[in-house]
Amino acid sequence: MKYIGAHVSAGGGVENAPFNAKAIGAKAFALFTKNQRQWNAKPLEKAQIEAFKKALDEVEILPKYVLPHDSYLINLGHPNKEQRQKSFDAFLDEVKRCEELGLNKLNFHPGSHLKEISEEECLQNISECMNEALRQSENVTLVVENTAGQGSNLGYKFEHLAHLLQNSIDKSRVGVCIDTCHLFTSGYDIRTKEDYEKTMTQFNKIVGFEFLKGMHLNDSKAKFQSRVDRHDSIGKGEIGLDAFYYIMNDSRINDIPMILETIDENIWAQEILLLYSLQK
Ligand SMILES: [Zn+2]
Ligand SMILES: [Zn+2]
Repeated sequence: MKYIGAHVSAGGGVENAPFNAKAIGAKAFALFTKNQRQWNAKPLEKAQIEAFKKALDEVEILPKYVLPHDSYLINLGHPNKEQRQKSFDAFLDEVKRCEELGLNKLNFHPGSHLKEISEEECLQNISECMNEALRQSENVTLVVENTAGQGSNLGYKFEHLAHLLQNSIDKSRVGVCIDTCHLFTSGYDIRTKEDYEKTMTQFNKIVGFEFLKGMHLNDSKAKFQSRVDRHDSIGKGEIGLDAFYYIMNDSRINDIPMILETIDENIWAQEILLLYSLQK
């Protein structure tokens, strides 16, 4: 089964997100459990947590089809120790918020070396933060996302993701999220059946489908290999609709949240219908 949704608003409180998902016909969704552009957030209130769980129940979406995304400020690979600690503290707070909400995944971007340290050192920093977060939590799977490779962001190669998984102290609580826009602009083509198969075979060999815990379904405004992160609506960008047809009919990709982060939220409902209509 394919579980498609979008990154919906949690404005007014996390408890509103499930209803925003339901309103567009989503079977899965992503959300920020706090303001993604601020370091600090008020703790979740008990009543809010209960309301969120009740809302999930009401819209009939299981927690495993919810893919919370962490704050954009967090950089677990930060070259500076104090800055990295600040990021780790915020990251752990996000993990705890997920646990409180009864959610079992947290999606995050690996981190950036800011041209001050090597990629290896940066990956090592990220690994240490991930392991510490695993030690200090119980139920949340850390889902690391591939990136376009803009600036000094790591995660633009399958090898980066694999490195983080391999260094994890608990392989049962780590996974990856593949963003199709990032995949494409970082240099993995999926536009033809042949290229799609080549990319996914590589993914399976280096990372493994068993670690695929979520996807972000985005077309791309930026060109192939541009390493630029600009999403577009499904079928309207440089990737085109065929790639999404291959994904929707790929039996290796099942029972995970598949999340639109496309630019026009007014057509999310249509995009969800469009994606389901591609299934044979
Ligand atoms: Zn994404
Ligand atoms: Zn992106």
